[in-house]
Amino acid sequence: MIPYGRQSVNEDDIDAVAQVLRGDWLTTGPTVTAFEEQLAALSGASRCVSATSGTAALHIAYAAAGVGPGDEVVTTPMTFVATASCAVALGAKIRFVDIEDDTANIDPVALDAAVTDDTKVIACVDYAGHPIEIDAVNETARRVGALVVEDAAHSIGSTYKGRPVGSLADLTTFSFFPTKNMTTAEGGAVATLDPELGRRAHEFHFIGLVRDRARMRYPDEGPWHQEVHEWGLNYRLPDVLAALGISQLRRLAAFKERRAAIFARYQEGLAGVDGIRLPTQREHVDPIWHLYPLRVLGGRRREVFDAMRADGVGVQVNYIPVYWHPLFEDLGFKRGMCPNAEQFYAEELSLPMHAELTDAQVDKVIDAVRGAVGS
Ligand SMILES: *Cc1c(COP(=O)(O)O)cnc(C)c1O
Repeated sequence: MIPYGRQSVNEDDIDAVAQVLRGDWLTTGPTVTAFEEQLAALSGASRCVSATSGTAALHIAYAAAGVGPGDEVVTTPMTFVATASCAVALGAKIRFVDIEDDTANIDPVALDAAVTDDTKVIACVDYAGHPIEIDAVNETARRVGALVVEDAAHSIGSTYKGRPVGSLADLTTFSFFPTKNMTTAEGGAVATLDPELGRRAHEFHFIGLVRDRARMRYPDEGPWHQEVHEWGLNYRLPDVLAALGISQLRRLAAFKERRAAIFARYQEGLAGVDGIRLPTQREHVDPIWHLYPLRVLGGRRREVFDAMRADGVGVQVNYIPVYWHPLFEDLGFKRGMCPNAEQFYAEELSLPMHAELTDAQVDKVIDAVRGAVGS
């Protein structure tokens, strides 16, 4: 089976991890700091806080933004459940805004109509790696005094009008799960341009410990002293995995190039095929393609999914609208709320997309699509 996504780990990656295992710091050490600094440099952020997963990064970002019981978080239904569920974990009330028909990203016009002065955070996703219309989203957020969280689990390395993802929103989150654009096995990070949000993110992911004497309530307690002002969790990425992250960051540009070539090969090989619709790219963005989201028309997605799996092609579906999950159904959300997202979900089929996919494999996938749709 050709998988829809998988990691690319080479000998340099393995050596980088082994070197840390032989050293003094397995966690809370200099490799974590170096990884965070390099991530910040790449993403144009002033600070990055690494974390144990993309889900943890979202939890950290919402906590840093001050999301608490009853606060309104407005988000997209076309994402992995964690984008919304991590805000629920902090007691937020969620509102879903429908997506654009072409990019499957949150619709900035519908978003602008949906937000209120009660909106604390607008949480968006760069679906498949294609950046959101961040300028419009930021303008909406400023108007109502909300913060923007950009879930960039798909889009580390993408740019919008020449600006890197990580420098666009108040808080940006990354995931380094193996199927994503680069990996630390499990892992994630929060990027921000705001030092205060960066400090809050760091403290939340470090049990809430305050070690800066200037901020202590009891600064004269003694040299051992550290204190907690707000509760936090232990979401620390260990040095062992940060080493893999540093090594993978060096390869990210090559990953992006290979993913772009695969995307172009699919576009060419599937052009003009009846019964499907191909993804599009807006002119002012330069995405790293995490997914290749094909759309199968005429109610045939399940049939094509099954035929391709039977043909050895590991297609996937990304995603069921978040409010279809029983967690959200039980909170009172009804089907039919976001018709574009539901239509997109009904048609979507992710074709294999990862850096080690060969041209021959891409061609096999193209043939399998053509065979399954009968063209
Ligand atoms: C993968 C993913 C996450 C969660 O990241 P994990 O590292 O798997 O916890 C969150 N949001 C989106 C859009 C994702 O694709």
